Amino acid sequence: MSTQVILPRIMQIGEGASQDIPNVLASLGCTRPLIITDKMMVQLGYASRIQETLAGQQMSADVFDDTVPEPTVASIQAGVEKARNGDYDCIIALGGGSPIDSAKAIAILAKHGGEMRDYKFPRIVIESGLPIIAVPTTAGTGSEVTRVTIIADEKTDEKMLCVGIGFMPVAALIDFSLTLSLPARITADTGIDALTHAMEAYVSKKASLYSDSQALSAMRLIAPNLRRAYHDGSDKAAREAMMLGSTLAGVAFSNASVALVHGMSRPIGAHFHVPHGLSNAMLLPSVTAFSIPAAAERYADCARAMGVASEQDSDAVANDKLLSELRALNDELQVPTPEQFGIDRQQFFDQLQVMAQQALASGSPNNNPRVPSSDEIIEIYQQLW
Ligand code: NAD
Repeated sequence: MSTQVILPRIMQIGEGASQDIPNVLASLGCTRPLIITDKMMVQLGYASRIQETLAGQQMSADVFDDTVPEPTVASIQAGVEKARNGDYDCIIALGGGSPIDSAKAIAILAKHGGEMRDYKFPRIVIESGLPIIAVPTTAGTGSEVTRVTIIADEKTDEKMLCVGIGFMPVAALIDFSLTLSLPARITADTGIDALTHAMEAYVSKKASLYSDSQALSAMRLIAPNLRRAYHDGSDKAAREAMMLGSTLAGVAFSNASVALVHGMSRPIGAHFHVPHGLSNAMLLPSVTAFSIPAAAERYADCARAMGVASEQDSDAVANDKLLSELRALNDELQVPTPEQFGIDRQQFFDQLQVMAQQALASGSPNNNPRVPSSDEIIEIYQQLW
């Protein structure tokens, strides 16, 4: 059996990669970009730095900075109008997963019309939108190398998973120096997101030798560096490892799929506005404990790649160590429980049936080594409380 692997055409990786944007545009034959970003990137001067670099090569770029964290259908509408009505030949998506996902959706809707709902999974989006050059500033979602975008429908409180080659950036400029400004909380949430991508890709039923090799490399980079980057945001070596780890984890899951953590995480985010990485972090220990019996060997490999178990440890010992590590990591990174996050108990328990249905409908739980029933999903949600 063979595996189809989809990647960006260009990946520019390393310190200062984002400053190579004129060369990358030139090699793609693009001259008139629209930068899609958020207000923080403007405030930090990242957007103007790209504009200045482009101006040095006689290229001008407009900026749309109205994207919001965890993008919604309404939040991208003005961006669609701007992209449709301008003379842009590409989009520079600058920021964390939210601006990059917004840009992916805008790129398709501006060119092909319709509503976001029309493009949601199980439809596979093969149309090409405006080409996207992704410049991630979190380490992170891996969205710069994935064929995925996630847009929430505020009417139904559903995070719509949209998938297909149409959402794959043509280029990714992976510059860890942009992550030096990340606050500790966002470093933690996004870092656990990346770790979850790597673990889920590795245990996914759709894993292949290719995705395994990316996932294991990602775990080796992320696990020893997440605490370091959290405690000292200026630690360049840790930031570099986290950034590359996050990209490799993105490559792994985009080509192997995520599983139960992500399936259950999206409904928590959609109903209670918990940032994506944080809801993953809340779920990772419990979902791992639930899933280990169906893939003990695979999870033990994760423990070894993360450096928390040795080659000599049996799978059972390695998996005990893995669970201890995931709980200790959440403690050290101060991941709150849903209650500590401020979610109302009654509302949380009232939504459990709907959340379990949405989790199953996303398709992700089917890739889990142990496929849960709706009742089992509800039980795991209850455990989080
Ligand atoms: P984000 O983009 O929502 O950013 C979180 C916050 O961090 C924002 O306030 C942002 O302004 C700030 N920020 C970002 N970079 C910064 C920097 N360098 N310095 C200082 N502040 C910075 O966070 P995220 O976790 O990267 O993205 C989350 C989104 O990504 C969610 O919508 C999630 O569903 C989506 N996602 C997409 C994929 C995919 O493959 N497409 C995968 C996982 C998650």
